[in-house]
Order: sequence, then C-alpha cells, then structure tokens
Amino acid sequence: MMHLLYTPERQRIAIQKSGRLYQASMDLFTSRGLVFAPEGRSLIRACENYDIDLLLLRDDDIPEYVRAGVADFGIVGQNVLAEKGIDLPVVEKLDFGKCKLVIAVPKESRIKAPEDMQGKRIATSYPKLLSGFLKSKGVEAVIVPISGSTEITPELDLADAICDIVQTGSTLKAHDLVPICAIMESQAVLVESPQSKQAKKRFLSQINLQSNV
Ligand code: ATP
Ligand code: ZN
Repeated sequence: MMHLLYTPERQRIAIQKSGRLYQASMDLFTSRGLVFAPEGRSLIRACENYDIDLLLLRDDDIPEYVRAGVADFGIVGQNVLAEKGIDLPVVEKLDFGKCKLVIAVPKESRIKAPEDMQGKRIATSYPKLLSGFLKSKGVEAVIVPISGSTEITPELDLADAICDIVQTGSTLKAHDLVPICAIMESQAVLVESPQSKQAKKRFLSQINLQSNV
C-alpha cells in the first residue's frame, strides 16, 4: 500500500536513484538539516524530520514526474531537461553535476569543425540537442541514437563522431577522442513543479530555499 505515503501534505522530491547526481543530492538535503531513514530498496524514502519523501528515479524520468506534479521538486541536470524539452522553474542552481555536451572525433580524424560533419555519422544519447545544433550550423549529418557508452562507437566504426557529456575529458582521452566544439554547458538544478504553489512555498521556507515563482 505504497500510496498511503502520498498524503497531500507531504512534499515529494525526485532525485537520481544512483549515478553521478545521487550522493551530491543527498548531501544537499543533509546540509539543510533533513534526516532520512537508512537506505533500503524502496524507490520512496521518507524524511524523518520533515513532511518530505524522496522519489528515487532514473534521471531521464525526473522531468516528466515533476512536470506532471507527481513530484513537487526534482534535482536533475540541465542537459536532461533540455533534451526532454521540458522547461521547469528553477529554484536553485546547484554546485554539482557540472559538465558539457560536446562533439568529439578520433584524434586522427579529418573532422576539425562542425562544418566538416556534413554527411557524417554522429552517435549520441542527445538526438534532440544535436539535431538542433546541426540545424543551426546548416549541417546535415546522420544521427545514430545510442543509449550509453557512445565513446566506443568510432573505434567500432558505428560512427565518425560522438556527441556526449564530458566533465574532465578523461573518458574521451582514454578512447583517443578530442572535442571539436561544445553544444551546451550544464549543471544540476533544483526544479519545481508548476503545480500546488502554496504547499511548495511552505516547503521551500522550511529548508531555506526561495522560490522564483
Ligand atoms: P540513470 O541511470 O539515472 O539514467 P545516467 O547514466 O543517465 O543515469 P549519470 O551518468 O549518472 O546518468 O549522470 C547523471 C547526470 O550527471 C548527467 O545527466 C549530467 O547532468 C551529470 N554529469 C556530470 N558529469 C558527467 C559526466 N562526466 N558524464 C555524464 N554525466 C555527467
Ligand atoms: Zn539517464
């Protein structure tokens, strides 16, 4: 009877279940004084000292949960929001999850600039952002949709270039790839649902955050 946890008074915050944003998201709440029950296998984790429940989700699903109002807040990368095309009010830009969406090519490639990608194959998990970028440059290329580990696609000859998120660049380097241009910069943001304003404001003041709406 999971749904009994969902009383209207409790605020739900969607965060990444595991992965690069999980620990920093938990640390943020801890630093604001929130205490959570020990980690279990449940996808819902109750806060012990505020009327808050965490929803632990894949980061790709967070924008939709927040847009729909199933979660009142979410912590997610701007890159994911942009790729999903879901624009949500940002409560606070967070100091983690900083990365860039870049196009990279094998070191020895003749592709040196976006214009050189005419007719080339580009593997990416960001087809929407990539196609927008290519359009803005007037370049027609073949987008190869891949759900992860795009960095291996050039050496396997599935693609001539990749469009992926990088932070330090060490993954690119390990595969002899070099970035030729950046499409967007990103960081984690705390977003809020366009639903139920009164309850949200109460929550925001509880944990010392201010709403932009
Ligand atoms: P999930 O299982 O939740 O779908 P994922 O594999 O899509 O996880 P992660 O790799 O954990 O996602 O990255 C989550 C977010 O962290 C990215 O969307 C991005 O905003 C940010 N990020 C920061 N640095 C990096 C990096 N070097 N590589 C990938 N993402 C990064
Ligand atoms: Zn994901």
